[in-house]
Amino acid sequence: MLDALRSCSIEPYTAACLSKDGGILSNVPVLPDMEEQWKVPHLLTYRADILEVFVSQARTSGVTLHLASPIACLDFCTPAATTISGTRFSADFILGADSERSFCRSKLLTNPKSPILSGKIVYRITVRSELLSQHQDLEPLICPPRVTFWVGLGAQVVCYELKRNNV
Ligand SMILES: Cc1cc2nc3c(=O)[nH]c(=O)nc-3n(C[C@H](O)[C@H](O)[C@H](O)COP(=O)(O)OP(=O)(O)OC[C@H]3O[C@@H](n4cnc5c(N)ncnc54)[C@H](O)[C@@H]3O)c2cc1C
Repeated sequence: MLDALRSCSIEPYTAACLSKDGGILSNVPVLPDMEEQWKVPHLLTYRADILEVFVSQARTSGVTLHLASPIACLDFCTPAATTISGTRFSADFILGADSERSFCRSKLLTNPKSPILSGKIVYRITVRSELLSQHQDLEPLICPPRVTFWVGLGAQVVCYELKRNNV
């Protein structure tokens, strides 16, 4: 699976931590040091590509996936889950991984509480790589591949290149 992930990923040579003014706070070598020391690579991968690799590996391993099948009813005693179309699946256990507005959690807990907003918000901005390459002062952000963090008071910005769609 690692080979498949690697083929759709970019491996950064360094991870640089900058102050909000652009001053270098640290510049850590990643390639090849990361894999030599920890036996695992540092990969920059588009989420859809990770999912494709996982799905492909799961199917190869004999797993059957039912997409677009929201769970509408849970029976924690059997245990079993029933989709909105009425199909019932029983299992040895049910793993509820349905995110922050979890249906599973709302059914499992007698007094479910909504997630608490931490006040921290994440935004994503995508820029085409060739646009960065056209600017002498921006090109070093992606060539050679690297991860750049700007660390400021109450905020952090991370910049890295993805292979898919060249963003
Ligand atoms: C703008 C932004 C940028 C981010 N960037 C990064 C990043 O660069 N790197 C990183 O590691 N993380 C990043 N994150 C965080 C990351 O997206 C989340 O932490 C991660 O997706 C959570 O995974 P999850 O499987 O818990 O939930 P989700 O990915 O939300 O998956 C939950 C799944 O449950 C399904 N589901 C919900 N209800 C039901 C139901 N009743 N029946 C059946 N299925 C149901 C949903 O359809 C969904 O497929 C980012 C988040 C945001 C918002």
